[in-house]
This record gives sequence, C-alpha cells and structure tokens, in this order.
Amino acid sequence: TEQRGGYHLYRSDMSSAARERLLLLSDLRGALEQQGLGLSLHYQPQLSMVDGRLTGAEALIRWQRTDGSRIPPDRFISLAERSGLIIPLGNWVVDQALAQFRRWEDQGIDLPRIAINISLPQLRHPAFLPFLRECLEQYRIAPERIELEITESVAMQEVDLAREALARCKNRGLCIALDDFGTGFSSLAHLHRLPLDRLKIDRSFVRDLATQLQQESAGSSIAEMIVRLGHTLSLAVIAEGVETAEQQTCLQNLGCDEAQGYLYGRPMPEGDFAAWVAQR
Ligand code: C2E
Ligand code: CA
Ligand code: CA
Ligand code: CA
Repeated sequence: TEQRGGYHLYRSDMSSAARERLLLLSDLRGALEQQGLGLSLHYQPQLSMVDGRLTGAEALIRWQRTDGSRIPPDRFISLAERSGLIIPLGNWVVDQALAQFRRWEDQGIDLPRIAINISLPQLRHPAFLPFLRECLEQYRIAPERIELEITESVAMQEVDLAREALARCKNRGLCIALDDFGTGFSSLAHLHRLPLDRLKIDRSFVRDLATQLQQESAGSSIAEMIVRLGHTLSLAVIAEGVETAEQQTCLQNLGCDEAQGYLYGRPMPEGDFAAWVAQR
C-alpha cells in the first residue's frame, strides 16, 4: 500500500541520513587527527557605525572534505556538539584564530579584536579556559582583545552554568558577546545577571529593518528595542547580516554601535582579509 511504501521510504531516508552523519563525523575526526586538514577559518570584518573604523573580526570555520565537497558549519557544528568532537574542534579554532591574530599583529595590521564562536560543551568543559589562557600566553595576546560569542539560546538553556562559566572568562579579562540576540527567550532578569560586553542583533531583525523603512513604520522595530535594551544595560550593540545601505542608515539612526555583514565584507580567508584591511 501507499502507506507502507511511505513508511519504508521514511525508514530508508532516516538510515541514509544517519549514515551520512556518521560519515561526516568520522571524516571530521580524521581531519582533526591530521592537524585540521581541510579545515580553515574565514574572517569577517566588524566596523564602528560611528566612524567606520575596523573594530574586530569574527572567525568562522570552513571545511572542505578530501573529495572536494564543502560542508557548511551549520551542518557539522551541531553534529560535533552532540558527539563531543566539538572539544578538539573548538580547541583547533581557538589555536588557529589566536595564531593568526599574532601573525597579523606582527605584520602591523591594526585589528583591535577577534571574535570566536564558542559552543556550550566547550564553555562548560574544565579544560577550555586553561587551554585558552595557554594560547593567549603562547601568542602573547591580551585577553581583552578576544571576544567569545555565545548564542543567546545556549546561554539561556542552562543559565546558572553559563553565568558561572562566562564569569570565569570575564574575570580573566575576556570579552563576551551574546550572539543571535532576540531569537531566544531571554528573561530580563537572566540577561542582567550574565557578565556581557555586547549584544549581537540577529540578522533576521536586520533583514526586517529595510521593509519597515519602506513602510515608514520603523517606530517600534525589534532592532530598536535591542539597541535600547543593550544601552540600558551598558552593553555595546552590534548588528549582524547588514547587507544594504538602507539597513546601515536605519541602524545608525537607532544608535547601534557596530555592524558586520556583506555590505562591508564577506567572511574571507586570512590573505584576503589582510588585503581588505590594507585597501581601506
Ligand atoms: P553565526 O555565528 O551567527 O555567524 C554568522 C553567519 O552569517 C555566518 O555563517 C556568516 O557567514 C553569515 N553572514 C555574515 N554576514 C552576512 C550577511 O550580510 N548576510 C547573510 N545572509 N549572512 C551573513 P556561517 O559562516 O555559515 O556560519 C554559520 C554558523 O555556524 C555561525 O552562525 C555559528 O553559529 C556557527 N559557527 C561558525 N564557525 C564556528 C566555530 O568556529 N565554532 C562554533 N562553535 N560555531 C561556529
Ligand atoms: Ca557568531
Ligand atoms: Ca549570529
Ligand atoms: Ca547563528
């Protein structure tokens, strides 16, 4: 019967998806065992909305498998998180990003800060902060110049745990940004208790801005509320996913501090990033 057929199709789909996940994981494990073969970091500029100067760069992981296929981070990060592989992978990212930061420093590239995405299993792992501090020492980098990006949903999932772990990082001088802000369900009380430096407006709200401008109803946008909330809590606010001049103007009018997005620069390999900085 059709129902039976549907059932079988569903079953075989599931198992092929599961097989694919297992294959991805074993390939990723293999890449890490070979000093990150096929893994790389791209860097996306972050700019001041007041004077346009470069304030930082976000490190974003890229993976090209040995067969040439590129796997987007959204596909393998969650797998790595669930399998524990995120610990060695996350350490690889931290080491690479800080090593690159040191090389740029030596080349005289004026980059105030580097932002690194951190998953909850990393944050809660007892060896994470010691490893990070080891890298800071090895590459002679002041902790104030490193920003850890942690997503709002993750930080709110286990608030007490996140708060303690973030406080330990903060006490060591590291900066903390709450990523994808507005997509989770933060309670104001919890937000207030997290040791944050920056809120990062999720790009879905930045996308909404242009349409609101067209409709001349920019009055009560989510982005506006986030900027106000951030400033009320004495936090800096950065918008991600800025693609158009209209979005930029809108965010500037709202008093948003910083921006990041295709309008300024895509995530780039290190060489392209250095060239981008030099060209400005
Ligand atoms: P995210 O941290 O929210 O990163 C922003 C994503 O938006 C990146 O996707 C970036 O390439 C993309 N993006 C930047 N500007 C624009 C824009 O103007 N328009 C649009 N449409 N997109 C823009 P990407 O690189 O594919 O990364 C996806 C997610 O994977 C990241 O989201 C982050 O959650 C995760 N990720 C990436 N690298 C790492 C990492 O090293 N560690 C961890 N734990 N997660 C990572
Ligand atoms: Ca991020
Ligand atoms: Ca984000
Ligand atoms: Ca995201």
